[in-house]
Amino acid sequence: MNVPETFGINVFNDSVQKEILPKEVYKALRATIEAGKQLDVSIAGTVAAAMKDWAVSRGATHYTHWFQPLTGLTAEKHDSFIEPDGDKAIMRLTGKSLIVGESDASSFPSGGSRVTYMARGYTAWDPTSPAFVKDGTLYIPTIFVSYTGETLDKKSPLLRSMTALDKQAKRILKLFGIECKKVCTEVGPEQEYFLISEDEYFKRKDLRLTGRTLFGAPVTRGQELEDHYYGAIKPAVAEFMRDLDEELWSYGIFSKTKHNEVAPAQHEMAPIFSTTNIAVDGNMLTMEIMKRVAKKHNLVCLLHEKPFRGINGSGKHNNWSVSTDTGVNLLNPGSEPENNLLFKLCLTAVVKAVDEYQGVMRASVASAGNDHRLGADEAPPAIMSVYLGDQIGALVDSIVKGESYTATKAEKGSIGVPESPIFPKDATDRNRTSPFAFTGNKFEFRSLGSQANVSDANICLNTIVAQAFCEFADELEGKKDLEKAINALISRELKKHYRIIFNLDGYGPEWEQEAAKRGLLNNKNTADAVPVLYEEKNLEVYVKQGVFTKAEAIARADIRLENYTKIINIEALTMIEMAKRDVIPCVSDFIAVLCQNVASKQAVCQDIPFKTEKTLIKRLSALNDATSAAVEKLEADLNKIDKSQISEASQAMAHVIIPDMEDVRKYVDEMETLTSSDYWPYPTYFDLLYSVK
Ligand code: ADP
Ligand code: MG
Repeated sequence: MNVPETFGINVFNDSVQKEILPKEVYKALRATIEAGKQLDVSIAGTVAAAMKDWAVSRGATHYTHWFQPLTGLTAEKHDSFIEPDGDKAIMRLTGKSLIVGESDASSFPSGGSRVTYMARGYTAWDPTSPAFVKDGTLYIPTIFVSYTGETLDKKSPLLRSMTALDKQAKRILKLFGIECKKVCTEVGPEQEYFLISEDEYFKRKDLRLTGRTLFGAPVTRGQELEDHYYGAIKPAVAEFMRDLDEELWSYGIFSKTKHNEVAPAQHEMAPIFSTTNIAVDGNMLTMEIMKRVAKKHNLVCLLHEKPFRGINGSGKHNNWSVSTDTGVNLLNPGSEPENNLLFKLCLTAVVKAVDEYQGVMRASVASAGNDHRLGADEAPPAIMSVYLGDQIGALVDSIVKGESYTATKAEKGSIGVPESPIFPKDATDRNRTSPFAFTGNKFEFRSLGSQANVSDANICLNTIVAQAFCEFADELEGKKDLEKAINALISRELKKHYRIIFNLDGYGPEWEQEAAKRGLLNNKNTADAVPVLYEEKNLEVYVKQGVFTKAEAIARADIRLENYTKIINIEALTMIEMAKRDVIPCVSDFIAVLCQNVASKQAVCQDIPFKTEKTLIKRLSALNDATSAAVEKLEADLNKIDKSQISEASQAMAHVIIPDMEDVRKYVDEMETLTSSDYWPYPTYFDLLYSVK
């Protein structure tokens, strides 16, 4: 494969646009894309025709507006290019069809922001993210809004949050005499996933219906040998990864790194970072392509945050930075961070934003699946904090304490063998336990769930940092002795928000206690984390930065709680179904066989011992009864919940239903370890985790 030649072959990217669009049209389109100029509608017809010709040359017969509704997934509805021309057909895409589409919005979640009888929804072209051809269809990235203009998707607030950050960051840069066309946030989302055999997957109702195993005794070999992480990649997985790379590259996604992760059957892919909305689209496409490519290899790609208990789950590291179109990275400390006033000011803004809106950040990564990871010693805790590392940590300490700063310069490393090269060491070590770590010239938000649409976390980051920039600019603009004012502000704000900085181990109970002393939030599950979003201050920040109206922000919080409730409800129902119809009857059959064995032994000779059978019969009978009782309780508690009361229902799910489900699982998992594998109704963790060749 000639990678440079085939890279982005399915994408209507800059090079294609330059080649096939008339010069003036190309210039106008680029002005929109690069400098955020309002789209010149008069060029739409020409762009549409060119796009259609290009797509048809790549085998397309259809086009679709591609959008990201509040389900967290992507949505598409295909129309053919076909139009009658007498009794013949011609292929056509009009400017109007490119720019707007109408879509029945009534079946998408809207959290009450769109009354159902007004079902009209509109999709509108997002020219900043390139269109592409997939499976004979031209995909046009769009935003999705209601008839009355309320946003119904994740894309439009993301774009608004980028606009807000651009506006406020430019005000900060202006203080330093730096002019630029555009300030953008860049994101590199590292994606973790599991690969299991398709045959085994289809035998598990829980995996098929909920994406995770609701039962499963621990496998005798988990991740304790730490031999899977970065280990040699199995041939079947290597073939999958090669195919995945080729597909991703053809869609212009810079898939860069691939390796085995900590848990058996767990892997990771990291792309090279790009502008946030493009990174988001790329990640949505990546997740879909991962599933498709897996299918081709008779595998299933699990993107759930916690498919298996007892081994690590999957997350997504959201590497985030802020740069100008002229290449200035606002979070680059340079060689002398102590003298880099712009960096210090921007860093302070981020620290302030995280401290003031820690609840919003926590809520932005809250989901039923992610609740299993955060704080479980495999992912950052549910407490938000900022890790700065030795060098920047020492700089901040010196500012807060008013002491002079002695630079800890990056050293040169050597392994003490003359033949081995001297390597430049990073100025900071890694801290894998922090939710939000400064990593050289960017922050790594590590709390995201693996199946999340990363828009939510980035809308939050962009908005809260824009707000901090905005407050700083309000204070500093027009100051006579600007440098003095900036230094005073940095020192004051770092002191005020110092509690959010934590450079030590974020796992374990000591930090929980320490964080509680510092007054930091620790909302352990979605039902407890999301209500923070209804607080006045947290609604206001979105309104002030023009990202959501108050009604939109409330609607989104409602949807998160509703979605959480629905997911736990599906999990509980699936568990009940599996326990009642499969596990309990199978164990009962096995008990019957044991009883028959005892009876036939006795018929032959009273003296034959049957201690083993009797012990098993007793234990399994007791456990099967306990399972029935626990399932009955779960069913009864589930029936009591009024799902129309979003807040109460989500609380009941978190604090009643999940503990009930734990009980059922406890008995079933023990029965699994005692029941003959011939009788167990489902593939075990061993079958699921060790079946890929
Ligand atoms: P690791 O986290 O394994 O150390 P890197 O830090 O090199 O790896 O990169 C992790 C991810 O961060 C990659 O997706 C990379 O493209 C992205 N990244 C690197 N620099 C930036 C940046 N300035 N802004 C946003 N993302 C970045
Ligand atoms: Mg990383």
